[in-house]
Amino acid sequence: MSIRIAIAGGGISGLSLAYALLDKNPALDVTVYEADSRPGGKVYTERVDGYICEAGVNGFLDNKPATLELAKKIGLPPIKSNDNARKRYIYFDGALRMIPTDPAKFFLSNFLTLGGRLRMMGEYFVPKKNYEDESLKDFAVRRVGAEFYEKLLDPMASGIYAGDPEKMSIRSCFGKVYDLEQKYGGLIKGFMAVAKEKKQTGESSKVEAGPGGTLMSFEQGMYSLIQALSDFLGERLVTGKRLVETEKSTHGYTLHFADGTQADSDCVVITAPAHDMAGAIKGIDSSIAMQLNDIPYPALSVVAFGYRKERLTRDLNLFGFLIPAKEKRQILGTLFDTSIFPNRAPQDHVLLRVMIGGARAEERALLPDEKLIDVARSELAAIADVKADPELIKVYRWEKAIPQYHVNHHKRIEMIEAALIRHKGLYLGGNAFRGVAVNDCIGNGYRLADQIIADMDK
Ligand SMILES: Cc1cc2nc3c(=O)[nH]c(=O)nc-3n(C[C@H](O)[C@H](O)[C@H](O)COP(=O)(O)OP(=O)(O)OC[C@H]3O[C@@H](n4cnc5c(N)ncnc54)[C@H](O)[C@@H]3O)c2cc1C
Repeated sequence: MSIRIAIAGGGISGLSLAYALLDKNPALDVTVYEADSRPGGKVYTERVDGYICEAGVNGFLDNKPATLELAKKIGLPPIKSNDNARKRYIYFDGALRMIPTDPAKFFLSNFLTLGGRLRMMGEYFVPKKNYEDESLKDFAVRRVGAEFYEKLLDPMASGIYAGDPEKMSIRSCFGKVYDLEQKYGGLIKGFMAVAKEKKQTGESSKVEAGPGGTLMSFEQGMYSLIQALSDFLGERLVTGKRLVETEKSTHGYTLHFADGTQADSDCVVITAPAHDMAGAIKGIDSSIAMQLNDIPYPALSVVAFGYRKERLTRDLNLFGFLIPAKEKRQILGTLFDTSIFPNRAPQDHVLLRVMIGGARAEERALLPDEKLIDVARSELAAIADVKADPELIKVYRWEKAIPQYHVNHHKRIEMIEAALIRHKGLYLGGNAFRGVAVNDCIGNGYRLADQIIADMDK
């Protein structure tokens, strides 16, 4: 009899893990149990009135191979974002300002004051600090200065994690940056050393510390990947099955679902959000459940607007904009979807998506729909001069959106992993641990598949 592996959670983490297991060993008996009526979790694309509207995930970067490799294996051609996607803006001092992409142009521009630019370059002389972890804010102010932090890194933290930089862990959220200081003594020194190493090995000498690369998606949106994985899994994906309890049994584990049914399995992997995982395993290990319950998932809402292009007075050929917290605005930022990917709106129409809430303004994400729409419209008018009446309005709510890796997150993960050793055949995956990007979820799924298969032989 082949080994039975049950995966609870049919988001991109669970689906790609199932694919990876079967890719490595087609004889495995894999079943994915998804609580909702549709799989995908935070990946959902809605097609409405000719618009292709992403409710959550917008795309993935090509600077890590995981999503591109999976898409290739499953036969789904990716699409690249337009050149406009490189035009990223930050709103401060009452105006939208483009971030110069080239380091020399950045230094020569007035994006930062002269003092701010000199302080940024002074990073070279900031001594290395030996530490286990610190907040993104403490790290950034110490190394590159307050202005660079406030105008660039603070809004970036909103853009990726909808997080609070005073609490976010530099080590867990921006591991490459943390490593540059630890290994080379500083960021500029690190960039120079890595570029030199890459040159010597014949690789491109471009070094990225943050989310570089080109943004990618699929012609019909990100849900195409979920659809392709679901089609591949067929009956091995069961929806409407919420795991509520996991119980150890003589053969392995018995899974109990909210609808009163149960299933036996040799091995269980839970890729649901941490708070859902906690509920499903508290009977087996309350200490792990406690750690999982402490990972915050602040709410985030997405308000999408579709306009007739002729009604807009301003050129919107840009990726979008983010807003530093210091500006005290009511939105985190806006993505100009039609400028990023082709066919996101009917001909001569424009699609924008506004992000509201996150760790520093969670209550705002939970406002009733009409209020959310009012906030988004008045902020778009004030910040980007978008005053036209939209012909499409959609609100997508994520009450528990993105897990926050706070300072010392790595210690929590170490504790959970040490405790898991007591439970042979039980694994935890998903975005609560080592990366929230789709690329990380898929890459970690492949690594977990290797570990599960290796453990079977022990
Ligand atoms: C608004 C938004 C925009 C984002 N944009 C991007 C982006 O552009 N690029 C990017 O790389 N990342 C983005 N992210 C992050 C990314 O979406 C997520 O980290 C990733 O999709 C998480 O996938 P996952 O499978 O780990 O978790 P989820 O997507 O949360 O999936 C978990 C699944 O488990 C199911 N589940 C829950 N409880 C149970 C249970 N008890 N039993 C069975 N099933 C259960 C849920 O229904 C869900 O389907 C964004 C996130 C949000 C919220």
